[in-house]
Amino acid sequence: MGPQQDTAAGRELPQIEKAPRRSFNLEDYEALRASFSWADARRLMEGLPGGGLNIAHEAVIRHARGARAESTALLWLGRQGERREISYRELAGEVARFANMLRDLGVAPGERVFVMLGRVPELYIAVLGSLLSRVVVSPLFSAFGPEPVATRVSIGQGRLLVTSPGLYARKIAPVRDELPTLQHVLVTGEVAAPGTAALTPLLASASDEFETPETDPEDMALLHFTSGTTGTPKGAIHVHEAVVAHHITGHYALDLRPGDIFWCTADPGWVTGTSYGIIAPLTNGATNLVLESEFDVALWYETLASERVNVWYTAPTAIRRLMKAGPEAARGHDLSHLRFMASVGEPLNPEAVTWGQQVLGQPFHDNWWQTETGGIMIANFAALPVKPGSMGRPMPGIEAAIARRGADGGVDIVQDAGVEGELVIRSGWPSMMRGYLGEEARYQKCFAGGWYLTGDLARCDEDGCFWFVGRADDVIKTSGHLIGPFEVESVLIEHPAVAEAAVIGVPDATAGELVKAFVALKTGHQPDETLRRSILGHARQRLGPAVAPKLVDFCADLPKTRSGKIMRRLLKARELGLPEGDLSTLEGDAR
Ligand code: AMP
Repeated sequence: MGPQQDTAAGRELPQIEKAPRRSFNLEDYEALRASFSWADARRLMEGLPGGGLNIAHEAVIRHARGARAESTALLWLGRQGERREISYRELAGEVARFANMLRDLGVAPGERVFVMLGRVPELYIAVLGSLLSRVVVSPLFSAFGPEPVATRVSIGQGRLLVTSPGLYARKIAPVRDELPTLQHVLVTGEVAAPGTAALTPLLASASDEFETPETDPEDMALLHFTSGTTGTPKGAIHVHEAVVAHHITGHYALDLRPGDIFWCTADPGWVTGTSYGIIAPLTNGATNLVLESEFDVALWYETLASERVNVWYTAPTAIRRLMKAGPEAARGHDLSHLRFMASVGEPLNPEAVTWGQQVLGQPFHDNWWQTETGGIMIANFAALPVKPGSMGRPMPGIEAAIARRGADGGVDIVQDAGVEGELVIRSGWPSMMRGYLGEEARYQKCFAGGWYLTGDLARCDEDGCFWFVGRADDVIKTSGHLIGPFEVESVLIEHPAVAEAAVIGVPDATAGELVKAFVALKTGHQPDETLRRSILGHARQRLGPAVAPKLVDFCADLPKTRSGKIMRRLLKARELGLPEGDLSTLEGDAR
């Protein structure tokens, strides 16, 4: 095959052929596609008597009782240079203690536990312990401010929250009164603040034996929040059956093998950090490396080399930051153990793929999925050549297509290669979301004619490879984190000087996009630097650094439709100097 055209950027980079290697979990893509069945994938799970299935049982308990009992399940590298290796047997004991503690506290199956922690062992124990006891768990990103936390815990009607004393004081205590369902707050360590209980003594007094309860594969297991253009965040419901997809995608799309040292750099506060930062490596019997510290070029190379990482799953923003540091930063680090490198979460520029090949000795393998799909749907597989800029091909068992939405609300599948449209996936894989909590209508809108509508625009080339084009809606991807503009705007308009606000994503060479706000001021307020800083500070305090805008512009008026909806798209087109498109619905004076 000749060079591939990245039409979006007008660049052309050659396909990367790979050196022959002894074996891959997926050797022959077409043959596996033809023979794959989800029922076969399900049979790889141990399961429970009577057809049950429990994620934590598959991830931890079965290994703790088998040949892998003494292998390292979690390899934790702490911020202060600490190092903890926790075997599958030890992890099973800790997870059982957490499950028993929940039972002792009266938290019942189906109720919701929220976990807001940095990447510390207690986070992994809390997530897996909740799953083992059939309590639904929702990990929250620790860089969220009080507002996003309160919204999510309210929607999820959280009964118990596990956090640290510092996060409690800064993010939960200010909104605790707004959370009447939240009966228990447990803080890591020995000492409890007023209104909380200390986790360590509670765990220490709980038994380390817990029989996996009967778990219906369709029992709700995980609640992952995601954002849309409008309205509150949506709590995507995932069930225990999802583990079938976590496991098999880990096996085929990440080429994971028992005994591998696997490092997923995503935070468990986002779906990648749970499906692949907790579940898939453990079901596959790997050692799950957890680095508590944030991104740091030298530390990352050092970790890859000294911990002999075999499979590395990271994200475009991080890769671009490594590229910025230059090839010299990689020099001197022995990466010969690194067998496979993958990336997810935002468009991976073709240069980043080839940079991997040139500087680290192999290309990054981009893959695509989202909160709602629960697991990898489209991937560049280890055995296949990589087309830089392409997201790859559908997982065996997954049918993906490009569609146009019809006037009747249905979808028309586009048969021609190279045509842009919405990326859709045929419904019915194990990790597909089962609903948005309490929002049936919003959930139903995601499906038409047996297809799940992803909200992403893409195209498919003549080889069946998918290429990302953009989002069909107004959500923003910044450093791999999905931000809903409405959530940000709602906080901005609570600033005493702000009358109206609109939030868009503007391109950024490293973060992909930055959150930018346009605000119209109430009469009597002057647009100056002091006010700009006051608005930025207000947003940061309420939303947290991961969500707050980095940029604020003042406008006299925001462009609106005649029905009063702010036209974010028009603001974005103006910001980027792009054609403004159809302005027929625009309110008269904002042109
Ligand atoms: P989230 O639900 O937060 O995981 O975000 C999912 C969204 O991230 C997708 O709908 C895409 O818009 C974007 N995304 C994920 N993976 C990729 C990728 N490989 N290339 C481009 N965009 C991606």
